[in-house]
Amino acid sequence: MATAFYFDERCLWHTTGEHVIIAPVGGYLQPPSSGGHAENPETKRRLKNLIEVSGLGDHLEWRKAEPVTRAEMQRIHTPKYLDEFKRLSDAGGGNAGYYSPFGPGSFEIAAISAGLVKRAVSDVFHRRLDNAYVISRPPGHHCLPDASMGFCLLANIPLALEALRAEVGPVRAAVVDWDVHHGNGTEACFYDRDDTLTISLHQENCFPPDQGRAEARGTGKGEGYNLNIPLLPGGGYQAYLDAFDLLVTPALRAFKPEIIVIASGLDANAFDPLARMQAHSETFRAMASKIKALADELCGGRLLAAHEGGYSEGYVPFCGLALIEEFSGHRTPVQDPFLDILTAQQPPADFIAYQRARLEKQAASLGF
Ligand code: ZN
Repeated sequence: MATAFYFDERCLWHTTGEHVIIAPVGGYLQPPSSGGHAENPETKRRLKNLIEVSGLGDHLEWRKAEPVTRAEMQRIHTPKYLDEFKRLSDAGGGNAGYYSPFGPGSFEIAAISAGLVKRAVSDVFHRRLDNAYVISRPPGHHCLPDASMGFCLLANIPLALEALRAEVGPVRAAVVDWDVHHGNGTEACFYDRDDTLTISLHQENCFPPDQGRAEARGTGKGEGYNLNIPLLPGGGYQAYLDAFDLLVTPALRAFKPEIIVIASGLDANAFDPLARMQAHSETFRAMASKIKALADELCGGRLLAAHEGGYSEGYVPFCGLALIEEFSGHRTPVQDPFLDILTAQQPPADFIAYQRARLEKQAASLGF
């Protein structure tokens, strides 16, 4: 048994085209000299490279997977959306939704990305390995059943959970989304269902703006099975730990999942260009430690993380490495070269107390 690392180089060949941060080049927007669109392969490739160079990769089981099929996609997505995505992909690229540009062949690459998550969910559920990390690109947590959104082209985690249920029958699954942006796509896929607890920790009113409110708790028999935890910009390490202790932990204990899937955006990091949350590598190590202990307590250790956002080329690798070190129980000699300065930049005590009071109020409203 081991921690598995699901990776396929083809996922890094998906292109998001000529953009600066998130805006298409044109008019007064000078074309980029390098990098371009925030969602480019470099953060993911540098994480994979640090895993290899640090020696952690020698302690992981590297795996690939088959792409998901069109029939599997239709468990979540509408035929109309899939037809349009495929048509544009074959025609050289386009955009089949909101803030989600893609290039030629991205339909097939997205099927590989979702296929990696699908296989990881199955392998973890059947205890073929201890836990897993998946470099899923394009990411999935903003993707809606009928439209792409926020760089996400297929709903990777919902597709994987529905494939598992098709294989084994009903499964109680929890999705914990610590990407800095709201996991609106995953929420939309399961909003009226009681078999999937969706939890999203995110910077308040970031992306999509005006979504991810604490009051959005689900509908119909899904009422109470969606938990949004909006955090104030700048919250940093302590905001995430307090959110875990006050809300995530009691919610998971009440739900009693059979498997926990992390939507693992690393864009809460302090250097990220698309958010303002001040987290550092020890934040991700601490969250990984807490969620691993909860998986051991609640569901026989069944735990995996599927990569979502994270746009600081220099820093994402150190956050991901810390997380996967914690999953695998193997500590490398790597020291985060940015940790001292980011620790010194954490918010002051009165800010932390204010953020904690907000979380305590939300927890009390839920009876935790
Ligand atoms: Zn994100």
